[in-house]
Amino acid sequence: MTVADIIIENGRLITFGGGTGRAEAIALAEGHILAVGTNAAVRETKGPDTRVIDAQGKTVLPGFIESHIHLFSGGLELAMLDLSTSHDAETVASRVREYSAQQPDAPVLYAIGAHYDLLGAGRPIDRHGLDRVMPDRPFAVMAADHHTLWANTPALELAGILHGATVPEGSEIVMGADGLATGELLEAGAYEYVLATTASGGRDLLGMTTGNDPVPSATPEQRAADKAILRAGLRHLAKTGVTTFHNMDGNFYQLELLSEIEAEGDLLCRGQVPFHFKNYDPIDRLDEAAEMQRRYNSDWLWSGRLKLFHDGVVESGTAAMLRPYPNWPDSTGAPLFTPEQFNEICVRADEMGLQISVHAIGDAAVRGTLDGYAAARAANGARDSRHRIEHIEVLHPDDLPRLRELDVVASMQPLHAPWGGLFAPSDEGQILHEDQKPLAYACQTIRETGVPMIFSSDWPVVPVEVLPSIGAAVAPKHLGGNWTDQRQNLRDALESYTAMGAYAEFNESKKGRLVPGMFADLVILSDDLDSVALKDVGKASVQLTICGGRVTYDAGVA
Ligand SMILES: [Zn+2]
Repeated sequence: MTVADIIIENGRLITFGGGTGRAEAIALAEGHILAVGTNAAVRETKGPDTRVIDAQGKTVLPGFIESHIHLFSGGLELAMLDLSTSHDAETVASRVREYSAQQPDAPVLYAIGAHYDLLGAGRPIDRHGLDRVMPDRPFAVMAADHHTLWANTPALELAGILHGATVPEGSEIVMGADGLATGELLEAGAYEYVLATTASGGRDLLGMTTGNDPVPSATPEQRAADKAILRAGLRHLAKTGVTTFHNMDGNFYQLELLSEIEAEGDLLCRGQVPFHFKNYDPIDRLDEAAEMQRRYNSDWLWSGRLKLFHDGVVESGTAAMLRPYPNWPDSTGAPLFTPEQFNEICVRADEMGLQISVHAIGDAAVRGTLDGYAAARAANGARDSRHRIEHIEVLHPDDLPRLRELDVVASMQPLHAPWGGLFAPSDEGQILHEDQKPLAYACQTIRETGVPMIFSSDWPVVPVEVLPSIGAAVAPKHLGGNWTDQRQNLRDALESYTAMGAYAEFNESKKGRLVPGMFADLVILSDDLDSVALKDVGKASVQLTICGGRVTYDAGVA
């Protein structure tokens, strides 16, 4: 009989397996789950060298599957000036000046996490405002949602875009009446000029901005620096209990670096990296996605998925809407693909056996994405494709049943919703029409139609810590008005971070549940969630993470 490498006992296991779905103890051997059951039954697998960990009555769960992150930029931003709690120019100025003193050699002072009221409520963020905050050095600040970068005049000059530049469809260097850039750079095609001047040369965001590899190729020093960033990101994921991540930007470069990290024994989580297809890419680039899938297909690092952006975000008016925004009566935003182009990509990718994941926030982008999936099904027949839609922030009632009909996986982020408590709801009548609110960020409404629901943070858009996201889902802020109650039950919310994540990646037979034979990926929490009030679930944390039978994070319990 196989002897356990590790036994965890006295736990309150939530297994998502058969029966009651509960157990006391679990044994791990050779990277897999060996046994699950009572303390006594599991102890049968104990040998002389078995490490026994006492879970002390705390919740034990399958390892978290974070189904939408950006590892490279997340890892990089761990060390950057975070302005997410700053909402007035005075605070920003003092923090940026302090940062400037700490970073005498940085070519650009780069900050992250900005909300749209960074310089004060109702005050636009532009180069003049940022010049007052930091007049003498190039300074740029990324929006929390990563769809807008704001730059001061020296940063625009350094990037060579003060007088504008050509940018791809869907991106915009906003120009002022004086003929100069205002400092507001909408979407990656506009802000990549500034990123290229930063210390990391923008390599961290290449998988997002273009999906291409660095040109010229990264030097050995740059590769080493980039690997250190990815390692920091992986350590951070392990700390929050993540054992698998689904990256949402991608290029060959990131996969190369991650596979080197794997060979060096430092890959602390399993990860999938997609091929990022842009609206200006010729359809034949799908062959590169197939090549990516052929080259990377292990249980630890794999591809096989396509990522596309169908629109931007509501806050900047770049989300594609079926009718004009209340506060921008001339604008609906614009889908980034024409229907013909998008449908052709979906048909071809689906035929090639690739999974598709599409960023779609506005109701027009969601509809366009559903149309593409329907076109793929019409052309190729119904297959088990598990195509995903990321975000689904605004949904037209006619499209609600189509998610289920087309077997779409809904990938949503509880902390992005105004009821998540992190982002304030936009002022009345500003961004959403009243009749759009009932189906905005409608996680529970969508779940109730039978759609597989997966949760994530979209790190670094919001912190990657899993329990705060689950806390937001089970104890949402009450918004009133036409906002509907999207409260999830705890079991569903946990499943959306475990078993459903495994389903979304076609790995439900390998992970996402605590049953014998599955990968030894699990977490021990700081609390017994069954005895914690729902409003306090978000305060729980991870005490121990095991991935592939190896302890990847230990807060000191073992
Ligand atoms: Zn994202």
